[in-house]
Amino acid sequence: ATHLVWFRNDLRITDNRALHAACQDIHAKVIAVYIATPEQWQQHDMAPRQAAFIQQNLDCLDASLAEKNIPLFSHQCADFAESVEWLSGFCQKNDVTDLFYNRQYELNERRRDDRVGELLQGKCTLHAFDDSLLLPPGSVVTGSGEMYKVFTPFRKSFLQRLTHSDARCLPAPKPRADNAERLPLVPFDYPLEQPDPSLFPAGEDAALQRLRSFCRERVQDYQQQRDIPAIDGTSCLSPYLAIGVLSPRQCFNRLLAECPQTLEDDQSGAFVWLNELVWREFYRHLLVAYPKLCRHKPFIAWTDNVRWSGDADHLAAWKAGRTGFPIVDAAMRQLNQTGWMHNRLRMIVASFLVKDLLINWRAGERYFMSQLLDGDLAANNGGWQWAASSGTDAAPYFRIFNPTTQGERFDKKGDFIRRWVPELADVPDSDIHHPHQWAIKQGRVLDYPEPLVDHAVARKQTLQAFEEAKRGA
Ligand code: FAD
Repeated sequence: ATHLVWFRNDLRITDNRALHAACQDIHAKVIAVYIATPEQWQQHDMAPRQAAFIQQNLDCLDASLAEKNIPLFSHQCADFAESVEWLSGFCQKNDVTDLFYNRQYELNERRRDDRVGELLQGKCTLHAFDDSLLLPPGSVVTGSGEMYKVFTPFRKSFLQRLTHSDARCLPAPKPRADNAERLPLVPFDYPLEQPDPSLFPAGEDAALQRLRSFCRERVQDYQQQRDIPAIDGTSCLSPYLAIGVLSPRQCFNRLLAECPQTLEDDQSGAFVWLNELVWREFYRHLLVAYPKLCRHKPFIAWTDNVRWSGDADHLAAWKAGRTGFPIVDAAMRQLNQTGWMHNRLRMIVASFLVKDLLINWRAGERYFMSQLLDGDLAANNGGWQWAASSGTDAAPYFRIFNPTTQGERFDKKGDFIRRWVPELADVPDSDIHHPHQWAIKQGRVLDYPEPLVDHAVARKQTLQAFEEAKRGA
C-alpha cells in the first residue's frame, strides 16, 4: 500500500491526525505532498508575509519528515481546480492506495475536497480528519440541533462536550524503515515578505516552546494583561495556529498540564485564555453552519443596506496609520510593520473604520487579510462582523467605541503609541491622546496628521446610517 498525506493548513508532524493515521500501517509506504496555489491565495487576499511564513514552516516540516523517512513532494498549481487535477494524476503515477488529509472548513476548500473525492472515487481510499479544531463543526449544537448563534451558551455546551471528548495529542510518527530522498521544495510564485524571525521564528519547536513558556509564566496574568497592548500579555501564537504549525489540542493539553484547575475556575487567567480558543472554534463552527459568511455576506442581512462612505482618502489614511487618532495609527503601523496586531487594537481600528469613517467592513477585512501573518477567514470575518455589528452576537450597532477614550483606557501613558508613532515622542503622558490640543497650547507644530473626523459628529452620522438601513429592511 502507498499512503499519501496531503498537507494543507497543518504544517506539523506532532499531533497531526492525518499523518498519524497514515503511519499506522508499518508496512505501508508513506509519502507526503504540499501544493501551493498562488492564484487562489491571491483571490483569498493572502498576505505575502503569510506566504513567506508558510514557506519557512514548510522547510521545517520537510526536515522533520525527512527524519522520519517520509519524502515531501511539493508542487505549484495556479488554483484549487488545477491542484485537484494534478493531485489525481500524482496519485495514479505513484500508485497511491490511500489519501489522508485534515479537513479545511472554508467553502472553496470544501468544494476542492469534494472534487478530489469525485476524481479519485474507485481509485484510492480517502481518509479525512477533523484536526484543526478541538471539536468538529456541527458537534456543538442546541437542543433542536442548530448551531448556537450566541457565544456564551455555545461555550457552555462546548466545554461540557470537550471534557467528554478525546482531546489527547497524538505523537509524531516513528521513522519509517525505508530511507527517503529529500526533495527540493518549489519556490512559491507569490510575493513574499519575510516576517521578523525574532518575533515569529518558524517551526513547530519554536511554537511549542512559546506555548510552554506562555502557559508556565504568563497565562496566570492573562486576564489582567490581555487588554494592554504595551504589555506582552497574550500568547502571540495565532500565526502558528492559523497555518497549523500548532494544534488547538496542543494548546489545551499544555494549558491543563500547567494549570490543572483551568476548567474549575472561570475567573482564572487560564480559563480566560481557553475562552479565546473557544472563540476561535465558535467562528469556525459558524462558517460551516452559515456558508454565506465565506462569501463575505453579513450575518444580519439589513446591515447591507447601510449607505457606506466611499472616501478613498480616508481608507488610505486608515491603512497607512495616518488618521490623526494616536491609538488607531499606532495599531495600524504595528500591523503594517509586523503582520500582527493586538486583539484590543484590532477591535479599536475595526470599529474606527466602520463607525467613525463609515467605510464598508469588507474593505477592512480585505486589508487585514493582505497584511496579517495570522490571517484566517473565520476569525477575521468574525472579528470584522463583530466590530461592524453585522455578525451574530456582535457589538450592537449603537455601541460605538470612542477611539480616544479607548486609547486612554488601554494605553494610559501612551507607551504603545510612542513605540509606533515616533512623531509623538515628545508629547507628555497626560496629553498623548490629544496631541493636537497639546501642540496648540505649546505653540508647536506637530508632524502628525490632523484627526480625519470629529468623533462626536461621525458617531451621530453612523447611528443615523444604521437606523436608516434598519428601517429600510
Ligand atoms: P491570545 O490572546 O493568546 O489567544 C490565543 C488564541 O486564541 C489566538 O492565537 C487565536 O488563535 C485565538 N483567538 C483569540 N482571540 C480570538 C478571537 N476573538 N477570535 C478568534 N480566535 C481568537 N485572529 C486570527 O487568528 N486571525 C485573524 O485573521 C483575525 N482577525 C481578526 C480581525 C478582527 C477585526 C478582530 C477583532 C480579531 C481578529 N482575530 C483574528 C482575533 C484575535 O485578535 C487574534 O486571534 C489575537 O489577537 C491573536 O493574538 P494571540 O495569539 O496573542 O492571542
